[in-house]
Amino acid sequence: MQRGPQPADFADVRATNLAVVLRYVRGNAPCSRAEIAAATGLNKATVSSLVADLIDRRLLRETGLTEHRIGRPATMLMLDGSPYAAIGIEVNADYLTAVAVDLAGTQVLSWRRSFAGLGASPAQAATAIAALGRRAVNRVVKDGRRVLGLTVGVPGLVDSAGVVTLAPNLGWRDVNLRGALIRALGDPDFPVGVDNDANLAVLAESRYGAHAGTRNLVYLTGEVGIGAGIIVDGRLLRGHRGFPGEIGHITIDPGGPACRCGRRGCLEAVAGIAAIVSRVIPEATSDGELTDLQPEIDEVVRRARAADPAALQALTEVGHGLGQGVSIVADLLDPEVIVLGGYFVPLAPWLLPAVETELASRRIAPDLGGPQVSASILDHGAAATGGAATVLDHVDEGHLPTP
Ligand SMILES: [Zn+2]
Repeated sequence: MQRGPQPADFADVRATNLAVVLRYVRGNAPCSRAEIAAATGLNKATVSSLVADLIDRRLLRETGLTEHRIGRPATMLMLDGSPYAAIGIEVNADYLTAVAVDLAGTQVLSWRRSFAGLGASPAQAATAIAALGRRAVNRVVKDGRRVLGLTVGVPGLVDSAGVVTLAPNLGWRDVNLRGALIRALGDPDFPVGVDNDANLAVLAESRYGAHAGTRNLVYLTGEVGIGAGIIVDGRLLRGHRGFPGEIGHITIDPGGPACRCGRRGCLEAVAGIAAIVSRVIPEATSDGELTDLQPEIDEVVRRARAADPAALQALTEVGHGLGQGVSIVADLLDPEVIVLGGYFVPLAPWLLPAVETELASRRIAPDLGGPQVSASILDHGAAATGGAATVLDHVDEGHLPTP
């Protein structure tokens, strides 16, 4: 017996087609209904009905623009940014960032807060992160927007359920951050996600960065830890357990400084930001808890600009250590671009020459070229921006807000 399509199938097809139209407009706005029909293969009546639905949901709007060509001028469509916002939060050992973007990806909120990640218990930290999330949600709602979702980036191993399995620089093991956030946000009607910070940052870089659209791209977080977010052939590398890119604990110097993971000479113990600060400003070595490192980084930049010989020497040595890590990434993944993010950005003028020297000297076939290494233009919000971008991706995949 042949069964016809069931109502659920029709609903699925419609949701899929709504997402097809939404994605087309995201990539091609302003565009007309006729263009959408021609490009997607959907018939014009279907496109008109889908567009009407998307306008009802306030995801699309008509612009005053018309396209002048033979025949009737067409009404043009674009994404409606105003009614919605997607929120991303980035957790670091020394600060938190919150970003909100509208449906079109335009930033509508950007906050940075000091945060004593290591000084707090996981429960206290989750409370602080949730409080920032709640404030961001309240602000967005107060501005008349609906929240599409919230994604938090954490410097550690995060499983698919949003449990932080291990985050050495936060002192966390098996912390159910997603569960804590959902409770603290009062079981919200929007999706809440937790992901690795480097994964989110490379997604932001591939969407909004100077090398957007690069199909083989690596982003190195330059925070207290160093993690790699990896896009291979246009897709985020997730690995078998979801934990790739833990380059911060690759051994660079077996006799090197102690790392928070318990071993010695890891990349982040040699070239992480705390290592840079303690080398350039030995007198600033704190014995208390780690606080926002921005003032110390400003001081490192000031000394480097003043051509302080000890500072320049330390930055060159750190740059060589970082270059060894970058060379491993280059040999293993053959990316087109390796982007340095976070605190590496303001230090890039002094780190990059040594990184490039190291990369060139380790290249197996120098005449065949190698990856370009550059500093991110996204500043410290990259993982938070990437968190918001994953929320938009979820909508683009067909998980549309109800009208
Ligand atoms: Zn380590």
